[in-house]
Amino acid sequence: LELNLVPIHPEGNEFSGVLLVLQDVSAIRRLERMRSEFVANVSHELKTPITAVKGFAETLLGGAVNDEETARSFLQIIYDESDRLNRLIGDILELSKIESRRVPLVFSPVEVDTFVDKSITLLESEAARKRIELSVNVEPGLYVEADEDRLRQIIMNLLSNGINYTPEGGRVAMMVEGIGDDYIRIQISDSGIGIPKKDLPRIFERFYRVDKARSRSSGGTGLGLSIVKHLVELHKGTISVTSAVGVGSTFTIELPVLQ
Ligand code: ADP
Repeated sequence: LELNLVPIHPEGNEFSGVLLVLQDVSAIRRLERMRSEFVANVSHELKTPITAVKGFAETLLGGAVNDEETARSFLQIIYDESDRLNRLIGDILELSKIESRRVPLVFSPVEVDTFVDKSITLLESEAARKRIELSVNVEPGLYVEADEDRLRQIIMNLLSNGINYTPEGGRVAMMVEGIGDDYIRIQISDSGIGIPKKDLPRIFERFYRVDKARSRSSGGTGLGLSIVKHLVELHKGTISVTSAVGVGSTFTIELPVLQ
């Protein structure tokens, strides 16, 4: 609570008292804190790849450039870290655009099964590389009112997480069905490493990762799920997750058929 004293001057000049104004500022403070935490997180996340790029470049300049094999491996690291930096900045800009509602969503009726088929094709090679069985089961004849590009972004994000966090030879499955006349349910499940119970409530937070090293090595930015959650909410839908460590995870999205 914040206390403000406001002097009262009834007829314009005579001072006749004070007004005590108690204002609940917790929501404002919370927003301020979140904003400054975000800035601190962003700076930290950007620093990691920049430090690597700078360090390896310095070592190359200091003489390592003369050994071809070392030079190649250092240049590869510099390339990968720059790539990571690029993705990170892309995701940060995307998230800030979505959060400040600067993305106008363009809604149109989307036929779910053809849409899913098109999206899946883009991920088949990624799954094949890890010998992951990617299966899709979509109830025919479903339509949803959505922004097609954003809906694809949601699904691709969850499917590539499924592939990323599932060991070789595992399974990732997608199922879409209608629930009643008003909603569709999209479920994406994997037979992967799972998420510990204590981390489950936090995985949609920006930059929250169960295992930083693992997320980094698979090229993650820690922003994918927060972007997904925002996009689902912009579609007036909900997203939830259930998971068991060593067994796998299931992400469930429910979207209204009509806006
Ligand atoms: P990242 O870029 O790290 O993958 P996300 O926002 O997509 O970031 O996910 C946040 C964290 O949630 C991940 O770092 C990972 O720890 C966990 N996670 C997300 N999807 C899965 C999944 N399918 N299986 C296990 N863990 C997952």
